[in-house]
Amino acid sequence: MTKLAAVVADIIAAEGPMPLDRYMALCLGHPTLGYYMTRDPFGAAGDFTTSPEISQVFGELVGVWLINSWMALDSPSPFALVELGPGRGTLMADVLRVAKSLPAFASALQVHLVETSPVLRQVQHEKLGKVTWHDHVGSLPELPCLIVANEFFDALPIKQFENRGSRWFERHVGVGEGQLKMGLVAVPPREGGEGVYEVSPVSLAVAEDLGAHIAKHGGAALVIDYGHLASAAGDTLQAMKAHEFVSVLDHAGEADVTAHVDFEALARAFRSGSVDLLPMLTQGQFLNAMGLEMRVQKLSAKLQGAARQDFVIGAERLAAPDKMGSLFKVMAIAQKNRQPLYPFEAA
Ligand code: SAH
Repeated sequence: MTKLAAVVADIIAAEGPMPLDRYMALCLGHPTLGYYMTRDPFGAAGDFTTSPEISQVFGELVGVWLINSWMALDSPSPFALVELGPGRGTLMADVLRVAKSLPAFASALQVHLVETSPVLRQVQHEKLGKVTWHDHVGSLPELPCLIVANEFFDALPIKQFENRGSRWFERHVGVGEGQLKMGLVAVPPREGGEGVYEVSPVSLAVAEDLGAHIAKHGGAALVIDYGHLASAAGDTLQAMKAHEFVSVLDHAGEADVTAHVDFEALARAFRSGSVDLLPMLTQGQFLNAMGLEMRVQKLSAKLQGAARQDFVIGAERLAAPDKMGSLFKVMAIAQKNRQPLYPFEAA
C-alpha cells in the first residue's frame, strides 16, 4: 500500500467504504500526500503532458481568442483574466506574451489563478511574477472575467453509479485482503440508463458558480478538455503514471486520476445562470479556425533541422483527429448582449 492508501484504509475502517469522489479528492488533493500537493507532474520525466506543454502555439491561439473576445464584449477595463488549474503557468505565459500586442488589453487585465497545489503555485509564481491565487472559484473578484480552463475539469472528482439488473449501486472504495478494493453500495433507482453512469457534483457546482458570475459581472469562459459532447454511459475513470495507464486503486497519491468530461452536463450547469452557451467545437476545429497553420508556418520558418521538425510535429499533435484534435473538445460560454464570438459564432 502507498502511504496515502494506508490513510484511506484508516478512514474506511472508521467510517466504512467511501464513494469514489471522496477517494479521488484524497488521491489528488490530500494536504500532504495528494498527487498534486507534492509534485510537478508534467513533461517527459513526469506522468503526463498537456497541450500548452507540447507547443507554445496552443497558448498563443488561446491568447488571440481572448483578445478577440474581449473586444466583442466591449473591451471591459479592468477585467479579470482567470485560469483554472494553470499547471506550470505555461498557457498563461503564452497568453500574456500575445497580450503585449494590444496594450489596451494588457493594461486592463488582472491575472487570477485558481490553484490548490502549493508546488505548482510556486512554479507559476516563478514564471508569471505577481498574480492573485484562489483556492476555489467562489473568491473570484467582482469584475468581468475572461476564464480559461485547460484539463481542469477532468481532474475534478466523479461519482460512478452502476446498473445491475434493475438495481442501482454506487461504486465505493473499501478494503479487502489488505488492499483497496472497489465495491458496490445499493442506492435508490434512477430512471433509465444502462451500465456505468458518471457524475461530477463538484464540476457541476463550479460550472454553476462561473455561469452565475459571468451573468452578473459579464465575461466569457473557454473550457478545453477530453470528453464527450453528449452524456453517455461508460466508465472513463483513469489513472496515469509515467505516461502509462495504471490501476486507479494501486497507486493512491502517486498517479494522476482523471475522468472524461461530460460536456452536456457541464453545459447545463453553466447555463443555469443567464449566459449563452455557444456551439461546441473539437480542439482541431478550434485551433485551425484560430489560424494554427499560419502561425506554425511563421514560427517554423525561423527554425532549422530537428528543432523545426519537432515544432511542426508538436503543433500537428494538437489538432490531428487521431491525436488530440478530436478527443479534446472546446466549449465557450458568454454573457448575453455582445458581438458574436469567433470562431463559435459567425460575425
Ligand atoms: N492547465 C494546465 C494543467 C492541467 S493539470 C495544463 O494544461 O498544462 C490540472 C491542474 O489543475 C493542476 O494545476 C492542478 O494542480 C489543478 N487542480 C486540480 N484539482 C484542482 C482543484 N480542485 N482546484 C483547483 N485546482 C486544481
